[in-house]
Amino acid sequence: MKFEIHPTASPTSDKDRTAKLADPGFGRVFTDHMAIVRYNQAKGWHDARVESRANFPLDPALAVLHYAQEIFEGLKAYKRDDGGVNLFRPDANARRFRSSADRMAMAQLPEAVFIEAVEQLVRIDRAWIPGGEGSLYLRPFMIASEVFLGVKPSAEYIFAVIASPVGSYFKGGPAPVSIWVSENYTRAAVGGTGAVKCGGNYAASLRAQAEAIEHGCDQVVFLDAVERRYVEELGGMNIFFVFEDGSLSTPPLGTILPGITRDSIIQLAKDAGKQVREEAYTIEQWRADAASGKLKEAFACGTAAVISPIGKVRSGSGDFLINGGAAGPVAMGLRKQLVDIQYGRTNDPHDWIVKVF
Ligand SMILES: *Cc1c(COP(=O)(O)O)cnc(C)c1O
Repeated sequence: MKFEIHPTASPTSDKDRTAKLADPGFGRVFTDHMAIVRYNQAKGWHDARVESRANFPLDPALAVLHYAQEIFEGLKAYKRDDGGVNLFRPDANARRFRSSADRMAMAQLPEAVFIEAVEQLVRIDRAWIPGGEGSLYLRPFMIASEVFLGVKPSAEYIFAVIASPVGSYFKGGPAPVSIWVSENYTRAAVGGTGAVKCGGNYAASLRAQAEAIEHGCDQVVFLDAVERRYVEELGGMNIFFVFEDGSLSTPPLGTILPGITRDSIIQLAKDAGKQVREEAYTIEQWRADAASGKLKEAFACGTAAVISPIGKVRSGSGDFLINGGAAGPVAMGLRKQLVDIQYGRTNDPHDWIVKVF
């Protein structure tokens, strides 16, 4: 699909952009452009453009505003030391986006169009990619854009990609996070949308996340919806456990989001000869293994923060520490390995990197 490129008539000045890039934080600073592709049943996917970032006209009866047919992705562009730019496994995001669309009864965007939209936006907004440990966070998303209040899959969609420069998620290395075990709320049940990257999952997780904050924790961890025992994942990150025999385990796919970071960590750990089990693990076992010393580390993972060590677990039945509350060597080693691949500082044995420049 050919994108029409319409550079903005009023780009941010070099001075203003430099000021914004000095301390971008997360998700509040945006680049000058967006990529956009439209869908309707008559024309299919059409009108692919890169243009000035601007408001969408929102009819109050737009389907997404009422029935939440919305999906998204998250990936990053990384600046290499030689000045070039890497994407990390964009094909995996494109594939997941298609399967999310399928589950939400939305039109499926061809993977090549997804990747082209991302690459075009990175090309035109290249000057917005921070150096050092920063990156350009890319947010592809799709909304149901038919103007109709009937409950049915929308006949029209807007796919767009926006971009936001982000600093290093953790200044001075990742600090261990504390997590709150949600006993009142669950995230996903079998047959539901747990494996889909849809905004609705996040809406439903915010009350539990607020409860985590009220209990002095950084993040919430959800248990399975049936037995309320098996650890599933955090609000927006997958989870791994590291044992004294050197093996790792992570909850199996099904009701959790199939994270690309999760998949990459499984591969890197296996490359290093470690045993990795995708298996159910209960909160009781977690507590017992932390107490006995069988469990050495736990960490959360996702595109935004890469790997966050988990230092403390808090629940209605008491707290426990992991690795004395400190970051452990396995989490930190895997983190460095992954980050080095993303920034092109090391070889890329699985061909995960796509060079945009
Ligand atoms: C996006 C997401 C993740 C992490 O996925 P990555 O592909 O590794 O960024 C984990 N859990 C949820 C609920 C998510 O939405």
